[in-house]
Amino acid sequence: MKNGDGLRVVLWLSGCDHACPGCQNPITWDPAGGLPFDAAAREELFFLLSRDYISGLTLSGGDPLYHGNRQELLQLLQEVRTRIPGKTVWLYTGYLWEEIRDLPHMDYIDVCVDGPFLEKMKDNLLCWKGSKNQRVIDVPASLSAYREKGADAPVSIHCPDYYQVYEKGTTAHATSCTF
Ligand code: SF4
Repeated sequence: MKNGDGLRVVLWLSGCDHACPGCQNPITWDPAGGLPFDAAAREELFFLLSRDYISGLTLSGGDPLYHGNRQELLQLLQEVRTRIPGKTVWLYTGYLWEEIRDLPHMDYIDVCVDGPFLEKMKDNLLCWKGSKNQRVIDVPASLSAYREKGADAPVSIHCPDYYQVYEKGTTAHATSCTF
């Protein structure tokens, strides 16, 4: 599993109340845990993101959309869009797409990996996610389909078993996916 496409800067946000059995990062559940995201940390983040070889920002945790994170996260997303346009933003969350698609945050996200980690569906060979129930969602395409056509189902950037094609070393993944 990787934290998104390309070489990325990853910000882990404290706070999560999904309590998935088998979670790799239970230390991040406590919203008071971790290091303060102060001005110095913020500038370090933008310094790293400004490098040419960095594809973008990945938000992980914990859950970046934990209720106590939402206000500050929205401000950060707006700042990212303004200061470093063109870099992609990936979001990992334990919420389902259907629960979060109306949040203003989603206008600043390129890819969302949604849903809780389910141990019975765990698969270490999956490319972007930990368990098969999770979806790797093309957020702009999904928002357009939802807002313009009322589409309920999100648009995935590739099939759920992406790794099986990837593992064979073929180029099929490049033509069968929109990403
Ligand atoms: S949502 Fe993520 S961080 Fe939270 S309990 Fe589940 S796997 Fe752990």
